Amino acid sequence: MPERTETESRKLLGRLRAALAETTAGQARLDRIVALIAESMQTEVCSIYLFRDAETLELCATRGLESASVHKTRLRLGEGLVGRTARTRQIVNTANAPAARGFRYMPETGEERYSSFCGIPIQRLGDALGVLVVQSRAAREFTADEVYALEVVAMVLAEMTELGAFVGDGAALSARHQQPVMFRGTVGQEGAVEGRVYLHEPRVVVTNPISDDPDRELIRLREAVDTLRRTLDDILATATSIDPEQAQVLDAYRMFANSRSWMRRMEDDVANGLSAEAAVEKEQSLARSRMGQAGDPYLRDRLHDLDDISNRLLRILTGQGQDTGAAMPDNPVLVARNIGPGELLEYGKALRGIVLQEGSVGSHAAIVARAWAIPLVIHAEGIATEALNGDTILVDGDQGIAHLRPDEAVKKAFGEKIAMQARAQERYVSIRDLPAQALCGSTVALHMNAGLMADLPSLQGSGAEGVGLFRTELQFLVRNQMPRRAELSALYARVLDAAQGKRVAFRTLDIGSDKVLSYMKPNDEPNPAMGWRAIRVGLDKPGVLRMQLQALIRAAAGRPISVMFPFIAQADEFRAARAEWDKALARERILGHPLPERAEIGAMLETPSLAFASETFFGEVDFLSVGGNDLKQFFFAADRENERVRRRYDTLDTGFLTFLESIVARCDRAGTPLSFCGEDAGRPVEALALAALGFRMLSMRPASVGPVKHLLRRVRLDEARAVIDAARAAGEQSARGRLMDWLGGLG
Ligand code: PEP
Ligand code: MG
Repeated sequence: MPERTETESRKLLGRLRAALAETTAGQARLDRIVALIAESMQTEVCSIYLFRDAETLELCATRGLESASVHKTRLRLGEGLVGRTARTRQIVNTANAPAARGFRYMPETGEERYSSFCGIPIQRLGDALGVLVVQSRAAREFTADEVYALEVVAMVLAEMTELGAFVGDGAALSARHQQPVMFRGTVGQEGAVEGRVYLHEPRVVVTNPISDDPDRELIRLREAVDTLRRTLDDILATATSIDPEQAQVLDAYRMFANSRSWMRRMEDDVANGLSAEAAVEKEQSLARSRMGQAGDPYLRDRLHDLDDISNRLLRILTGQGQDTGAAMPDNPVLVARNIGPGELLEYGKALRGIVLQEGSVGSHAAIVARAWAIPLVIHAEGIATEALNGDTILVDGDQGIAHLRPDEAVKKAFGEKIAMQARAQERYVSIRDLPAQALCGSTVALHMNAGLMADLPSLQGSGAEGVGLFRTELQFLVRNQMPRRAELSALYARVLDAAQGKRVAFRTLDIGSDKVLSYMKPNDEPNPAMGWRAIRVGLDKPGVLRMQLQALIRAAAGRPISVMFPFIAQADEFRAARAEWDKALARERILGHPLPERAEIGAMLETPSLAFASETFFGEVDFLSVGGNDLKQFFFAADRENERVRRRYDTLDTGFLTFLESIVARCDRAGTPLSFCGEDAGRPVEALALAALGFRMLSMRPASVGPVKHLLRRVRLDEARAVIDAARAAGEQSARGRLMDWLGGLG
């Protein structure tokens, strides 16, 4: 076989482009392509195997093997040389195939004993799609140049399948992004909704894998890389003076952007006929497949950087920026790898559902979704690559399942589920104006958590008695710049107006941890949840805290007001914060503003340390509110955002319940009003346990008020308490089992 030259690879791509431009579609097109490769490479056999499912490859087109075996011959992942290529995602190139490890003879293909075999993985952005194979009778290894040409072809093939080019008889790829897929994830927020996919960060779609003018493509590539380098230099120039750690990461990016070998590989690809975008994507694919295999975390991180750099470059080349211009469909369901609370807030309440590939129940993005009562499924492995904008999707927040492109039967069953939920809602509406009074006579005040103006209408709709937690940071997160005092004061005044005299507990800014303000200097900390956040920032840099307190006083305009400070770990922090409040009052008085008729100044109990503060402290605070999300993470030393550890510990753990009970007892002794405002307050069984332990005020997302009240009104709290006591007496780890049995017994 003659040595290929780069020009010949280019010729092959040129022919491929011509073939793609032809009107043939589906199988005919696939057949045309294998024939073209075989002729061009002068091999007896060229075949394409595609994944039918995660474990099976199917022969989808061949030139040279028995045509009757197309769509019949199947191989398991790892079986034979084809399966080996697919499993290892490494090229297998051998002159003596029968002697190679894993060789399997497939008589049904009518295959002769071909000596040479070259298998190239077909993959797109780390997604294995299949294997491209050439075989020849002559015993020879394919040259580096031939292998290179095949790699490029494989890449073009991957792009074509992405575009849905093969709509063939059972060809697995034709079904990619078309078939129904079910994703089993984790419950983030209950509820069921049908909608259409709206991708948070849509992949850049490369529509022109092959170029007709390599010289022009080369210029485009170089210009784009120049732009990329300049942007990185610019960011770096500012970043160095601000944050050395961020600068380090950017430096690594710049290293890649200046890497000669990276550039050379892409230039070669372009010279051989790939478009600039396709060349970048080829590198990105390579990085992704290596990323999946790299055991060393450092190496994985660097490959991740390379992946990110490629993305930036693709966006420059395609001019797509972050915004690909896709219009938001009706009933949008946001699909993303992950999302921060600020980004989520930018979408507003238009979203009907959210499905995340990663994410965690304890994150603030999840809290926002919960506040909006939007069904949320997290840990839906692979959804961000499988879903396309506009796909139909059913989000089953109760089961933690998402059905992408569901068939009619699933859709019908789902419709019934939605109707059932609507009926439950009606039930909750019927008890909306009744108190959450248990059968034993004890009453629990149910309040709601809020943070946005848009939450306030729920105060009437849900039947909540007030706002037990107003997360003021959400207002800061939705903006691109620090809000001004006048804006804040106007907003808080509107909140108080909307509350119509009901109590609103404004929590001062809890920034830090996963709540990051784009306009504040990023603060890379090893453990942000335990870092410089909330009141720690407020006391160290009191400017914003003072502004907030003034805004609250002005908003109250003489009305009563409740303020609480987040993340108070010791009495002195509360005292310092309260001193700020007193100073603010004094200043406002001098300025002639009316002072609140009454002010309650409380603290959030979110660290175990505060539960052990002195009696004096318990007497000093006007009220305490347990921030169960944080308290639980610090009690068990289990990151609330880390699903792996978070789920190990039950809120109904008998030790945790005993700890909470001791807080109730201390507040009772000191006569300090106490509430619980973590997410657990909104889960009926957890809420029941809290009430049984003596919590008489619970604050939760609005949608939980109905279900929690419904349960509380049907039980005796003293009996629930006895069940918890029995679990403790029996030395059980969690009271959940007994509580559920008891509830089951009650029907
Ligand atoms: C909590 O920690 O329980 C809490 C209510 O505050 P956040 O979730 O905003 O940290
Ligand atoms: Mg908290």
